[in-house]
Amino acid sequence: MIEEDFSSKRKQGTVTSPVITDDTDAFENTLRPQDFANYIGQTEVKKNLKVFCQAAKKRGEPLDHTLFYGPPGIGKTTLSLILSKELGTNLRITSGPALEKPGDLAAILTNLQENDFLFIDEIHRLRSSVEEILYSAMEDFVIDIVVGKGPSARTMRLNVPRFTLVGATTKAAMLGGPLKDRFGHVERLRFYESTEVQKIIERSAGILEIDIEKEAAEKLAHCSRFTPRIANRLLRRMRDFAEVLHNGKITLKVVEEGLDNLCIDNRGLDYADQMYLKILGEKFKGGPVGLSTMAAAMGEDENTIEDMIEPFLIREGFLQKTPRGRIVTELGLSQVGVKNLLAV
Ligand code: ADP
Repeated sequence: MIEEDFSSKRKQGTVTSPVITDDTDAFENTLRPQDFANYIGQTEVKKNLKVFCQAAKKRGEPLDHTLFYGPPGIGKTTLSLILSKELGTNLRITSGPALEKPGDLAAILTNLQENDFLFIDEIHRLRSSVEEILYSAMEDFVIDIVVGKGPSARTMRLNVPRFTLVGATTKAAMLGGPLKDRFGHVERLRFYESTEVQKIIERSAGILEIDIEKEAAEKLAHCSRFTPRIANRLLRRMRDFAEVLHNGKITLKVVEEGLDNLCIDNRGLDYADQMYLKILGEKFKGGPVGLSTMAAAMGEDENTIEDMIEPFLIREGFLQKTPRGRIVTELGLSQVGVKNLLAV
């Protein structure tokens, strides 16, 4: 239920739509694959989605609501765009935190056209009052709104066009059961192989007309944390170094020099990651250390540490989370050149 009078505002066109147009990041959009053929990797997911698309087309129905989950920059938005293109529908993009009030979502839903895709990024961050609107919209394509205030308030049921909700989240576990259960397809996107990241780098270099040596692309791929967005970002930085400090071509030497200037090591750890391991290894003798102590020692907030720094360190085996706190592994210590404290 929406406890505000949004319908009159919508008629006057004064509801600020939190829809983000997809020209927010022109660079990313230039590099976004537009079809399955150009979307590298994620073979199993692509195979399934192609079938679901064909089935929906054959039946002339919208695609079932779809949830993508996986780390940031791994291709969730891109895949949604490809799906909507494949089915010839519009894609409206918004995000969980941008939908502050139920009325925000209701305004978007009632403005959709039949078969449109509504993409909600970071869907786990939807407020519960907004999320509740989605339940009936997803299941029965209706929403209940309250028009007016006080004693004259009355509930109105509105139909919304048959649409496809595409949700994306980095934290599937934080998604409530009632919402998760309403998705017909739930697809997990995985990290990419280095060879796949290399292909993505070479494809992006081709689009941007960047001359890059094979060995240079291979090295960059190894330092991209198996993530396309990071790979594309590093490619751009290397282009800067190549154009300003060299003759424009990205060679292995340019990449080695560039990564060094950016403080990115051979496994893709950046300055903050390296600091984290060094502080844990040297200052706290390897741990265990609690999150709040690590955050204070790093001068970062706890969310940044937990969401941005630790997942990759844990995944690569540099760090362990135990009930007593964080512990740096031997591998982690040797990665940042700190002596193995246990052996001393
Ligand atoms: P997410 O939504 O998971 O955060 P995006 O879909 O925005 O990630 O992807 C980030 C960038 O990485 C995009 O600009 C896109 O060009 C690139 N990218 C992602 N996945 C692939 C892929 N499978 N093949 C080629 N490029 C990709």
